Amino acid sequence: MHTISQEDKKIILDSIRDIPDFPKKGIIFKDISTLLSNPKSLNTLMTHLENRYKTYELDYIAGIDARGFIFGSILADRLGLGFVTIRKKGKLPYTTVAEKYSLEYGFDEVEVHIDAFGDNGCCQTGTPAKVLLIDDLIATGGTAVAATNLINKVGAKCVEVCFVMELGFLNGRKEIDAPVYSVLEID
Ligand code: AMP
Repeated sequence: MHTISQEDKKIILDSIRDIPDFPKKGIIFKDISTLLSNPKSLNTLMTHLENRYKTYELDYIAGIDARGFIFGSILADRLGLGFVTIRKKGKLPYTTVAEKYSLEYGFDEVEVHIDAFGDNGCCQTGTPAKVLLIDDLIATGGTAVAATNLINKVGAKCVEVCFVMELGFLNGRKEIDAPVYSVLEID
């Protein structure tokens, strides 16, 4: 199992900017735009993820709308895999499967194309496609639980969920019915 050095963690962490009270009072928003615009930090992160996942024999990478698309599609290309978008409701043009999840106030919904991982979510061998799900950050875990459920609903298998950052004090990972890996844990 490939692990990340403390030095590489620091390079990535130092490139993420904290924005207090965004999008509302009391939230410290973890801004990854400064990670993306820093070539050393982006390369350190993506090389770590490539080394970790190259032995997993994955079939697809799936990313959560919208920041999961950035890390997920770079990783998919590095591993020679296809990339699948899990999108907010109403954005995907073909037949979709949807999953609702709770927010602090009300609900949101994510969708995936029904054939995103092949017919019935299966590879040509007839076995469920092995999928890595990726997003930038896990807070309560609601978004990732819904996305994991979607992958399973269309017949594929979520073999791991990967985050760049985990807000450990919220313990969102306990809700996820798959192994969880976070590059950085934030207290
Ligand atoms: P949750 O469903 O509560 O785990 O929230 C995770 C989603 O909300 C991810 O797609 C994150 O991009 C976003 N998110 C939640 N909290 C933050 C935060 N403090 N900083 C940046 N993004 C956040």
